[in-house]
Amino acid sequence: MRKPVLVCLDLEGVLVPEIWINVASKTGIEELKITTREMPDYDKLMEQRLRILDRHHLKINDIQAVIDKMGPLDGAVEFIAWLRARYQVVILSDTFYQFAEPLMRQLGFPTLFCNQLEIDGSGRIIAYHMRMTDPKRHAVAAFKSLNFRTIAAGDSYNDTAMLAEADAGFFFRPPEHLPKEFPQFPVTQTYAELQSRFESAGS
Ligand SMILES: [Mg+2]
Repeated sequence: MRKPVLVCLDLEGVLVPEIWINVASKTGIEELKITTREMPDYDKLMEQRLRILDRHHLKINDIQAVIDKMGPLDGAVEFIAWLRARYQVVILSDTFYQFAEPLMRQLGFPTLFCNQLEIDGSGRIIAYHMRMTDPKRHAVAAFKSLNFRTIAAGDSYNDTAMLAEADAGFFFRPPEHLPKEFPQFPVTQTYAELQSRFESAGS
């Protein structure tokens, strides 16, 4: 008897656009375009982002309204529905529940493991809390220990530990340099390609 298949998917860049980059362009706040590429220290980056939001008097509702309008990537709703009819699906993301919520609603609320923002009574974001370190890899390792066959897909550096841990791992629309550094993970560009990769890896 084969093990049941559990698919682990990254969120931003795979099912929805990059949240911070879109919040930056939709609010016109250039400084919010800074990512871990320019500022590798994630804690410093997040502290800076929260300071910028404060300076512009942006509350959680304002940001959720922006995120709500982003919508999932073209075809993502159908892709998730296709996956969930065939496999167990868990989304592993470094974002925050309060940011992802408007997008998760549009995706039909699939299971999401991510992090939390701390918000005061006025809607001001006062802090952020990461659930643990290296959460994507730990999640895949835990699912394997529960006797699932794990298949994963992601687009960034922060996905490579998850792709390596999984029984099969694939890139989806990665930046050009990434597959050169990690040639072991096949590259896919469309949901159709990813579906056929999952079908072969899962059977
Ligand atoms: Mg991503």
